[in-house]
Amino acid sequence: MIEDKNQSRTPISELGEFGLIDHLTKHFEVTQKSTIKSIGDDAAVLDFKSKQVVITTDLLVEHVHFDLSYMPLKHLGYKAMIANLSDVYAMNANATQVTIGIAISNRFPLEALEELYAGIETASKIYGVDVVGGDTTSSTTGLIISITAVGEVNKNDVVYRSGAKPNDLLVVTGDLGAAYMGLQILEREKEVFKVNPNNQPDLEPYTYIVERQLKPEARKDIVKLLKDLKVKPTSMIDISDGLSSEIIHLCKQSEVGAVLYENKIPLDPQVISTCEEFNIDSTTIALNGGEDYELLMTISQEDFPKIKGNPNLTVIGYMTEKDQGMHLITRSEALIPLIAKGWNALKDQ
Ligand code: ADP
Ligand code: MG
Repeated sequence: MIEDKNQSRTPISELGEFGLIDHLTKHFEVTQKSTIKSIGDDAAVLDFKSKQVVITTDLLVEHVHFDLSYMPLKHLGYKAMIANLSDVYAMNANATQVTIGIAISNRFPLEALEELYAGIETASKIYGVDVVGGDTTSSTTGLIISITAVGEVNKNDVVYRSGAKPNDLLVVTGDLGAAYMGLQILEREKEVFKVNPNNQPDLEPYTYIVERQLKPEARKDIVKLLKDLKVKPTSMIDISDGLSSEIIHLCKQSEVGAVLYENKIPLDPQVISTCEEFNIDSTTIALNGGEDYELLMTISQEDFPKIKGNPNLTVIGYMTEKDQGMHLITRSEALIPLIAKGWNALKDQ
């Protein structure tokens, strides 16, 4: 499958820890005004003046969160950044800096880390965030990556999970389920490859969903769009575990209920056709698949004219009083309680 054709293997020990950090980070540029001191001292120094600061960490462990047999390291670096930045945007904040912690075993040569950092660097450039520090250590098991992202937001703009009110509209960005179906394709091809290593997979019919798995994007554009439209969501969360569990988070933290319409859930045609091929229900995948990194928000009905017809924003339901519970209304108009499965649960089936 996706093989590392790069044959040169420079042992990390040739550079030593400090040489390694320097080698991996020397290209990084500082672009944010708030970065006063970046890599090179005991700690980075940031200055946000009158802004509020958001901070979030994600930890990714090999064999638990990613599989290097189909995840190229460059994509892994990129995706690790995306997972973090997505959490910052979900606060309606602008991401400004990250720190990167890595633990590596000696099976990784320098070239592998260069790939990982190439992905990190690409994301940092595209999303305009400075890499201002990190930590590097060894691991006896596999690769571990921990990224901490920092962002800034005006005090009045920050959006929590807890602000949804009954009658607010439930709105989602982009489309759902693609990353999970992309993973199904990659796992299937990995099994085929094990049996016959000469078999080159034809991923052409699955380009969109495979890309959503290997190279997802975070919705920085939505934070700007909402600002331009003058819409402040009443609550917001990023979709990392599946629509169902994220709706439940909003409802629990806002103390409201919700109605979700099955026929409104945005699905890409490739998700629908791949679900048919795998004989699985596309709604189940949208509800429980993971890693879409879209944003789920509630907005006041008053703001509906501002978002109406916007191709980035789909109204999929509305919030209710808490005692009405959380339900999916199916295409045949049956009322089904929403449950949080998340993608790990789905994976074990
Ligand atoms: P300390 O001994 O204080 O932990 P280090 O020698 O680990 O310092 O780090 C030196 C500098 O390099 C610091 O600015 C640190 O944030 C940065 N750094 C260390 N590891 C990484 C990494 N993997 N990615 C980016 N920056 C790093
Ligand atoms: Mg250190």
